[in-house]
Amino acid sequence: MKSSKDIAELLDEPACEHNKKEKSGCAKPKPGSAAGGCAFDGAQIALLPIADVAHIVHGPIACAGSSWDNRGTRSSGSQLYRIGMTTDLTEQDIIMGRAEKRLLHSIKQAIDTYNPPAVFIYNTCVPALIGDDINAICKAAQEKWGTPVIPIDSAGFYGTKNLGNRIAGDAMFNHVMGTRDPDPLPEGTQRPGITVHDVNLVGEYNIAGEFWHVLPLLDELGLRVLCTLSGDARFREVQTMHKAEVNMMVCSKAMINVARKLQKAFGTPWFEGSFYGITDTSQALRDFAKVINDEGLTARTEALIEREETRIRELLIPWKQRLNGKRVLLFTGGVKSWSVISALQDLGMVVVATGTKKSTEEDKARIRELMGEDTLMLEDGSPKALLQVVKDYKADILIAGGRNMYTALKAKVPFLDINQEREFGYAGYDGMLELVRQLALTIESPVWPAVRAKAPWHKDKAA
Ligand code: SF4
Repeated sequence: MKSSKDIAELLDEPACEHNKKEKSGCAKPKPGSAAGGCAFDGAQIALLPIADVAHIVHGPIACAGSSWDNRGTRSSGSQLYRIGMTTDLTEQDIIMGRAEKRLLHSIKQAIDTYNPPAVFIYNTCVPALIGDDINAICKAAQEKWGTPVIPIDSAGFYGTKNLGNRIAGDAMFNHVMGTRDPDPLPEGTQRPGITVHDVNLVGEYNIAGEFWHVLPLLDELGLRVLCTLSGDARFREVQTMHKAEVNMMVCSKAMINVARKLQKAFGTPWFEGSFYGITDTSQALRDFAKVINDEGLTARTEALIEREETRIRELLIPWKQRLNGKRVLLFTGGVKSWSVISALQDLGMVVVATGTKKSTEEDKARIRELMGEDTLMLEDGSPKALLQVVKDYKADILIAGGRNMYTALKAKVPFLDINQEREFGYAGYDGMLELVRQLALTIESPVWPAVRAKAPWHKDKAA
C-alpha cells in the first residue's frame, strides 16, 4: 500500500501548471458535487489501451464490473485488453484471508489461458485496506512463471482519477520503461538520405482509431513511433520508451510525470501538442522537426504540411460553406478546450463559449489568444447553465462529453460527442474531414425541425 509520503510525491508535479498554486494535483471536488472517477479508474483508463497485456483488477467485482471497456480506444491487433479480468473478492475471501491467494491463482489463470507478454495488477480499495502485499505477490508470480507481472498500486481512496493517471505513468516508468532496447530497423526499410528518428507519444489513446490518421504522416517523415502511451500500444513498445529522441505530450497532461521523469533520467526533451485541427497538426509536426533539429526532416516536414494542407483545404470547401458562421458552445475539459477551438475556427465556425472547468491557467491564456479577451469561459457545467448559454448566445450545436448528451437532446439542441466515448476519430488532417462531416450531419439532421415543430394536435387546436 502506498504511504502518504508516496502520494504527496505524486501530487507534487513540478511540470504541471497547477503546482504553482498548490502542491495537490488537480482541484479536489467540492462537497456536494459528484467526485468523478477514483484513482483506480484513472490508472486503469490510462493503461487499458495497452492491447496485449492481461489487465487484472484485484478487488470486489464492482470495481472491474463498473469500469470495464469504458474507452473507445482501438487496437490494430491483439484484443486481450478488452477481456475484463478480476479476482472478484467476496466477503468470505476477505474474512478468511484468501485475497492474496486468489490473486496468485488469477495471475496463473491469465498466463495459462492467454500467454500474455505481461500481466498488470490493479490494486483497489478493499485489498489495500486489508493489507494485501501486491508488490510481493507480483514479484513471486513473475519469478515462478517468468512473465512480467506489474503492480499498479491504485486503490481508489488514494485520490482522484488524475492521481490514478499519474500512478499508472509512474508504474510504467518504474517497472517497464528501460527494460528492453528497440528493435533495429528492418532490413530494406531504410530510405536513402533519410535518417529515421525515434519518438514517443504520451497521452495519445487512439480513441476511435484516430491516431491512424496521423501515423502514416509520421512514417513518411521518417519518425518511428517507438510507443504511444497508451493507444494501440504493446508491452514490448512501452519497454523501449527510454530510447526516444523526443516525447510529445498529446492533448493531455494526465501523464505529464512520465515526460518529466524520462527527461530527468534519460535527457529526452518533450513538448506539448495536439492533433486536432489543421493548424495544430501542422504545428505538432513542426515541433518534432524543431526539437530533433535535422535539416532534412525540417524540409520534408514543410513539404508534407504544404501538400496536406492544400489537399485537405480543398476537400473542406463544400463542407465549410455549409458550416460557415454556425455558432458552437464547446464544453470540454483541459487542453481540448483550446485545441478544438482552433479546429472549429479553421472551419469558419464561431465558438460562442468554452468550458474551462478542468483547464489550467496556461490553457485559459491560449483560449484568450484564440478567441479574444472577452471570451466567455464557463466554469459551471450544470445542465441549467449550459442551456442558458445555448439560449443567450444562440448556439447551433453543443459539443461536449457524453454525459451532456441528454441535456442537449432533451432541450432539442444538436449535440456532438467529443470525449472519450466518441465513435469517430477527429485527429490529424483526415480527422478534420470526419469532424466536418459529423458536424454537418448533426446540425442539418431533419430531426431538429421535426421535434421543434408544434405537435399536429396543437396546430389543430389553434385552427
Ligand atoms: S473507489 Fe475503491 S471500491 Fe470504488 S471503484 Fe474505486 S477502487 Fe473500487
